Amino acid sequence: MKLKSLYAKIFVLCFLTLVSPLLFASICTYQSWDWDTNLKKAVNVHKVVKDKNVLTKEEQGVVSGCSVCEEDQVKIKIDSLPEFFVCKKVAAKITKAIKRTLNAKFPIFSIVGYRVGKSKGKINAQGLRTEFSNHSYGTAIDFNSEKNGLYDNCIIFSDSCFKLRGGDYFSDAEGAITKRTPLYIELLKVGFKWGGEIVGKQKDFMHFSLTGM
Ligand SMILES: [Zn+2]
Repeated sequence: MKLKSLYAKIFVLCFLTLVSPLLFASICTYQSWDWDTNLKKAVNVHKVVKDKNVLTKEEQGVVSGCSVCEEDQVKIKIDSLPEFFVCKKVAAKITKAIKRTLNAKFPIFSIVGYRVGKSKGKINAQGLRTEFSNHSYGTAIDFNSEKNGLYDNCIIFSDSCFKLRGGDYFSDAEGAITKRTPLYIELLKVGFKWGGEIVGKQKDFMHFSLTGM
């Protein structure tokens, strides 16, 4: 009897020390790139697989539970809209806002959420951007980019703004985002900020995020 319980103890000990770390090990996977400001395209596309315990501060991000890892993201599919991924921590809020937007008959043609890449921050000697965008953490989301471009040289939206990406912005076009559209109203209700209201030179009309950047 005593021997049996000894074997049982040894078995439990072996399981805890050898097997359980393998079962519960947390892996982080993501694919990233750097934005080349000279070539105006993504370069250095590479895949990263590492233990979640050794993520850098930058990889972890500022919203707890929303790192650059694919494992922190969830797929969202609403009605006939194209599917997209966002951080699991903000998925419920975004889903609620989008459903209300659709009920208010605002058209959504395209959505981009989680997309890892360094398209922000300082430009290094090679002409590459050095910081992850908010999309990299699944905490930013673009809608109807074909009607809501990203503009530079644009303190106030006017003819002198310079379009960097997306379609031309006409505030009265179908699917264009303004402060009066249901998409804006519903996303702000759940804590998002609109890129069309960024203070400074850029206006990113397609873009919503938790930080406003
Ligand atoms: Zn965006």
